[in-house]
Amino acid sequence: MQPTSARKALPCFDEPAFRAVFNTTIEHRSYMAAITNGIEIKEEDLADEWTRTTYLPTPKMPTYLLAFTVGTFDYTENITANGVRFRAWSRPEAVNNTRYALETGSEIITYFEDYFGIPFPLEKQDMIAVPDFAAGAMENWGLIIYRETAMLYDPEVNSASNKQTVAVVVSHELAHQWFGNLVTPKWWDDLWLNEGFASYVEYLGVDFTEPTWGMKEQFVINDLEPVFELDSLGTSHPVRVDVGAPAEINEIFDSISYNKGGSILRMLNNILTEEVFTRGLTAYLKEHAYGNADSDDLWSALTEADKDDGGLDVKAIMDTWTLQMGYPLVTLERTSQRTVTAYQEHYLSNPSEGVSQEYGDQGYLWQVYLQYTDKTTNNFIMPNSAWMKKERSIEFELADTVDENDWYMVNTYQYGFYRVNYDHENWMRLTDQLMTDHKVFPNENRAQLIDDAFSLARTGNISMETALNLTRYLGNEKDLLPWEATLDYMSYITNMFRLSGGFGPLELYMQALVEPLYDSLGWNDTDEVLEQYNRNNAIRVACYYRVTDCLDQASKLYQDYMQNPDNNPISNNLKTTVYCNGIRDGGQTEWEFGWNKYLSSSDSSEKSKWLSALGCSRQPWILNRYLMYTVAEDTQVRSQDVSSVLSAVGNNHIGIDLVWDFLRNDYDKIYDLFATSIFTFSSIISAVPQNFNTEQLLEEWIAFGEGRDFGPATRTYEQGTETIKINIQWMEKYEDSITEWLMRAL
Ligand SMILES: [Zn+2]
Repeated sequence: MQPTSARKALPCFDEPAFRAVFNTTIEHRSYMAAITNGIEIKEEDLADEWTRTTYLPTPKMPTYLLAFTVGTFDYTENITANGVRFRAWSRPEAVNNTRYALETGSEIITYFEDYFGIPFPLEKQDMIAVPDFAAGAMENWGLIIYRETAMLYDPEVNSASNKQTVAVVVSHELAHQWFGNLVTPKWWDDLWLNEGFASYVEYLGVDFTEPTWGMKEQFVINDLEPVFELDSLGTSHPVRVDVGAPAEINEIFDSISYNKGGSILRMLNNILTEEVFTRGLTAYLKEHAYGNADSDDLWSALTEADKDDGGLDVKAIMDTWTLQMGYPLVTLERTSQRTVTAYQEHYLSNPSEGVSQEYGDQGYLWQVYLQYTDKTTNNFIMPNSAWMKKERSIEFELADTVDENDWYMVNTYQYGFYRVNYDHENWMRLTDQLMTDHKVFPNENRAQLIDDAFSLARTGNISMETALNLTRYLGNEKDLLPWEATLDYMSYITNMFRLSGGFGPLELYMQALVEPLYDSLGWNDTDEVLEQYNRNNAIRVACYYRVTDCLDQASKLYQDYMQNPDNNPISNNLKTTVYCNGIRDGGQTEWEFGWNKYLSSSDSSEKSKWLSALGCSRQPWILNRYLMYTVAEDTQVRSQDVSSVLSAVGNNHIGIDLVWDFLRNDYDKIYDLFATSIFTFSSIISAVPQNFNTEQLLEEWIAFGEGRDFGPATRTYEQGTETIKINIQWMEKYEDSITEWLMRAL
């Protein structure tokens, strides 16, 4: 019911600061399970196969965490190490697929009891997977509700990344049982505290149960780097933002609250050290347990915890990161053998547009903790450090052993939420180091170099050539993170080049780049999770850019499956890619095969793989019919999945115009069907303009918006406009120079 829907169920003071005890009884059909926040204490048989169940009164809690479910669900059960009754529910036919969430969840709950230093506050924890749910999950106290793909895992059918999604979402929601539920924000302007916090510690919980997954390094590619782009728009917003009406509250359930919130807490943890951070956290939770608090309360608990260690003023630091939008670009210049000048400025991907609103009185200056090392020192674990305390520029010294020809690197492990630019000389040295021995840099920093460089090239801070030169070493790169960072930008270039003469050279370059990785990883999918992810990338990219061997293998697998539909020969991790290729290079028969598989599968993750693969077709009429299916009266596509269909078709270069026509022609229908859902409608509006890059499309987009009410997607629409403008400028600036670079590189 978060944020403002409890009032639809019962009359109440429906704001987070009003806590109340809820005494619940539910009258329900006897064969159905009725679950709510508290543990059941009494069951009475009523007439005609009805039952009245009474539950233990809840602790004092806010209305938005209230929940009840009644239906035919089955469960699996564990008792946690500290005696909490833990159940995982689903449709009866899927109940075996709750096992993984149950096992990993009951370990994580115990881990968090230890991490937060506070026992789990309730007698029981239920988790339930329901077939149609707009959000990923909702952390109702004692009764967490999930969409099926976020909780059910079938090792026979699902991929490693499906499994990771389950672990991560379960960990996220369990973290809320303390952060959000036990201690609740005073008002929604501090929503980021809930979501940022859960987005950070979800990684710690999963790292505890699945130590081989490299969760802590995955943070930078899954949470930190992806939000940099949105937060460099002038239409972004501060993590802490004034909100009043329900539509405004709904708007801030976005990646600024989740990803940026999590990233700045990870940064703060690194500044304070794990020990100080968790000590302050426990004090904060204990002081405000069963009550409400705001950001300032957390900052004062952390300042107190750091009193005898660093003695930092946490509020002064964090206000610069939470009260103003965006983040700094730190530009470095080496002025002598040891001396480096650092200069900070608000980083905007489209500076000519300015910022939509001035926020707070921070003046777009930040307290930036610079951690750095150099080639001779080569210490990423215990780096040197310097503070920029809202100064426009500072000077700092490299280690006294540094050689004048050494590279230096700032933002070790990418703990800081800022981008880094170097003098040209240093970019060259870093590039040389990558070519000779890239392993000197941690995975996080190799990904960071690529991510920063492409972004800085896009904004004109460095040449595109400098960024592209960094990719040359990738022939030797076997790790996931740098590839993820690269593919992100390469797919941007690819989408921008869809109608450009540069597409040919790009395809050839990408073939050459990925082939060594593709050859070394092969198709045999039995090793550690990070390798499996990397293989999936290699095969996806090799097939996308039409490496012949990849196309042959994928098409053979798809044909084998069609001939023997009861026996799927495709590795679970590679299904998305193989399905997409089968449909892309096939015709009507291949598409119908996929559609029927989508309809007949009872597994939500499998269904969602088919949904995205079905958008890979090259037949316009098939794609158009597919779009129409989403709004048909007897639609077979759940509303939670509609934006996936639109993204799949919109990312297909043949489908982009079709999606646009679809949105314009059927807007009223789409609005009526989906605008009541926070997540669904915004993701539809944001999916469509991502790859628009011509003046004509911009005019059409603006005309489309004139006088139109986008409801909860108002900001999303504006961000769409800005995205198109950035794409247009990017094309004007880089189409030719990238094409030339690619031709030379071949
Ligand atoms: Zn959450």
